[in-house]
Amino acid sequence: MIEQTLVLLKPDAVQRGLMGEIIKRFEQVGMKIVGIKMVWMDKEFSKKHYAAHIQKPFYKGLEEFMTAGPVVALAIEGLHAVETVRKMVGDTEPKKALPGTIRGDYAHHSYAYTDKRGIAIKNLIHASGNAEDAKQELALWFGKKELQTYKTVHEMHVF
Ligand code: AMP
Repeated sequence: MIEQTLVLLKPDAVQRGLMGEIIKRFEQVGMKIVGIKMVWMDKEFSKKHYAAHIQKPFYKGLEEFMTAGPVVALAIEGLHAVETVRKMVGDTEPKKALPGTIRGDYAHHSYAYTDKRGIAIKNLIHASGNAEDAKQELALWFGKKELQTYKTVHEMHVF
């Protein structure tokens, strides 16, 4: 039940100065950050990360957005980490994301606006969709030596 998952703070989160606010939420809920780095993705790497979406009509805009500035990659560990992090992130479309979620609290972009313009939805954050994706994405983003093992005080009460 202790899982690891991949989170990316997308270029809009970095450029809006929301890195600290977002990371704080994961720390606050008792999740453990076991890997963290800032990376400016190129198109080739974006195609690897979003392999499942390359053929989709929104991919071009998504790639443009994701390679327009650096992202922060986080490896996050915790009880039911994949599901818990997804719940905290909220719906993919910020307009639909509930208040209290990261997208619902810090963004409001809509597909109605972006689809017409062929641009990506600015939704601040990526989080692995399931345990299998999390494994693959963590292997793509982090070397084994970049993932740390240490104890947090939360583990006394949570793990
Ligand atoms: P996912 O792997 O489902 O998290 O999707 C990855 C990213 O692709 C999302 O965070 C959005 O930026 C983008 N995306 C997913 N679905 C759509 C869609 N229907 N229209 C536009 N962008 C999308």
